[in-house]
Amino acid sequence: MLAMNYRGPSRVRVTHKPMPEIQHPSDAIVRVTRSCICGSDLHLYNGLVPDTRVGSTFGHEFIGVVEEIGSDVTKVKVGDTVLVPFNVACGECAFCKQGLYGNCHESNSQATAVGGIFGYSHTAGGFDGGQAEYVRVPYANVGPTVIPEGMDHDDALLLTDVVPTGYQAAEMGGIKTGDTVVVFGAGPVGIMAAKCAWLFGAGRVIVIDKLEYRLEFVRNYAQCEAYNYESVGDPVLFLKKTTDWFGADVCIDAVGADATGNALQTITGRKLMLQAGSATALHWAINSVKKGGIVSVVGVYGPTDNLVPIGNVLNKGLTIRANQASVKRLLPRLIEHIQAGRLDPKALITHRFPLEEAAEAYHIFSEKLDNCIKPVLIP
Ligand code: NAD
Ligand code: ZN
Repeated sequence: MLAMNYRGPSRVRVTHKPMPEIQHPSDAIVRVTRSCICGSDLHLYNGLVPDTRVGSTFGHEFIGVVEEIGSDVTKVKVGDTVLVPFNVACGECAFCKQGLYGNCHESNSQATAVGGIFGYSHTAGGFDGGQAEYVRVPYANVGPTVIPEGMDHDDALLLTDVVPTGYQAAEMGGIKTGDTVVVFGAGPVGIMAAKCAWLFGAGRVIVIDKLEYRLEFVRNYAQCEAYNYESVGDPVLFLKKTTDWFGADVCIDAVGADATGNALQTITGRKLMLQAGSATALHWAINSVKKGGIVSVVGVYGPTDNLVPIGNVLNKGLTIRANQASVKRLLPRLIEHIQAGRLDPKALITHRFPLEEAAEAYHIFSEKLDNCIKPVLIP
């Protein structure tokens, strides 16, 4: 089968790989019909995540048709069209039982706290992902969810990550009625977080980025304010000034490890990782939230990144909440929001490429060319 094949920082190819096989009675094999590229893939692509192995296939946002099931699989059958949450979760451990599917204890044998993630580094279990014609889906009685009758498949595709992640960013912010919420990052995740902040009763939503086309998009899509941090002077001062100098009630980091900072050096035109990413947006969030406020972090950092200015957090009495999204926990209410017309995720998809053009798709999404917001690969 054809599959995206990681060859090292900034190098992606599509090659033939062996067909995935059922390895455990609770596995399923899914024939992928659509698969996104995510900002999280860019951390891998940029070489920011330890133990990202050459030869692995990325892709944790995909939908497809069940082709084969193991003998223990009862929740889906061959021929079902399913969306597959990005978390690989057993559904049985103490953490899954609490709804912390992103922190499953069984799906990742590596000693990192994160649960398994499709198509990520070996620090998240080393599962091959869905930027391929076929993918093995472990714990098929837990994650895969039959796409509801009548749901647009692009909406279903974004339910595998972007919608739950944006929603959980707002949820972890503990937004109260009338709160001012600042979202750093106008990528798909930040855009969705801004949209969802209103569902929790925000009174004012402000998005910060530097890409004018994304600021313009989020202004229209999420009916919020949006500012370019390169033209407002010091963004922290700007945000303080516009919030009566107290600061925002809630700040959301939807950026994560910053691959453009001094962490990377360009050698022969290729990005080479020298150290963990920097965290400009996280620092801005901590500095521009009010005392006693909440900083909600869904932007992804490497497992050993050590970037929180704890003294500042202590002195301001802040609460920091951070996690990978728990997709399965949120699916029922998000399906309801989509069916009721309160969320329209498919509007974020701007680009479609045949799987064979994955390298081009990564380049365009990584460099933010051609007004790209969310690219989809079609096997
Ligand atoms: P993206 O790369 O499309 O968007 C990131 C945006 O941040 C870009 O528009 C960029 O211009 C902007 N940005 C960069 N530095 C900034 C700064 N200092 N201040 C404000 N904006 C800045 O990525 P995405 O797909 O939207 O993902 C965003 C983050 O969310 C990534 O770190 C990704 O790994 C993470 N993520 C987390 C989860 C989770 O479950 N926690 C799930 C999906 C994605
Ligand atoms: Zn993702």
